[in-house]
Amino acid sequence: MPRWGMVIDLDKCVGCQACSVACKEENNVPHGSPSEQKLRREIYWHKVIAASTGSYPSAKVTVVPMPCMHCDTPPCVTVCPANATYKRSDGIVVQDFRRCIGCKYCIAACPYGARNFNYKDQTEEEYQRPDLPSDPALRWMWPFPHRVHGVVEKCTFCFHRISAALSQGLKVGTDVVPACVEACPTKARAFGDLDDSGSNVSQLLASRTEFRLREEMDTHPKVYYLPS
Ligand code: SF4
Ligand code: SF4
Ligand code: SF4
Repeated sequence: MPRWGMVIDLDKCVGCQACSVACKEENNVPHGSPSEQKLRREIYWHKVIAASTGSYPSAKVTVVPMPCMHCDTPPCVTVCPANATYKRSDGIVVQDFRRCIGCKYCIAACPYGARNFNYKDQTEEEYQRPDLPSDPALRWMWPFPHRVHGVVEKCTFCFHRISAALSQGLKVGTDVVPACVEACPTKARAFGDLDDSGSNVSQLLASRTEFRLREEMDTHPKVYYLPS
């Protein structure tokens, strides 16, 4: 069984946010209206934050792209009283929108701000996708079904792409990658099986010193960064 993970090279990231846009379009994440933005209700499955060190005139700013870290020991899963979020055997932390009761415990528990509360009931039209599965049971598990008001949503590592690739005998990491990885113009991101020593991600991690965000919290993220 693979253990999917992502490597992001901060030296190559130029902060263009193509990844964030690709994520929104891939997963039908709504672009909030100005009034929603004012209320801080816009939804981001992926963000790019700026971290600065030092002070003027020698301050250094590093941009850090942030999907869900798909923690190996995810605190969001531990606190969910409805089993609405869980870690799959391939390590991806998913969200079952049918079970979510919107209590927001997971949002409070996530140290990375990766989760979003959906304040709005999207119309069916906003979620019309030709590639939606016809089986209604599967539609609910798909990352871009009709997500109703009151549920929590977040990055899925684009598991719909992974499932489709595996079912067609394609190689995940080379033939097929998550939308944010595919969209990056500087090839700053890689995706693949962390437990396969021959995978692109394992080779990148073996070649450079890496770090993970908030490692001291023992969440064991599966998103690794190569420093700039
Ligand atoms: Fe950085 Fe690539 Fe995202 Fe642009 S698309 S912000 S270069 S990771
Ligand atoms: Fe859960 Fe947050 Fe970790 Fe993602 S980053 S698995 S939402 S605790
Ligand atoms: Fe969005 Fe997919 Fe990237 Fe996650 S892996 S941030 S869902 S594009």
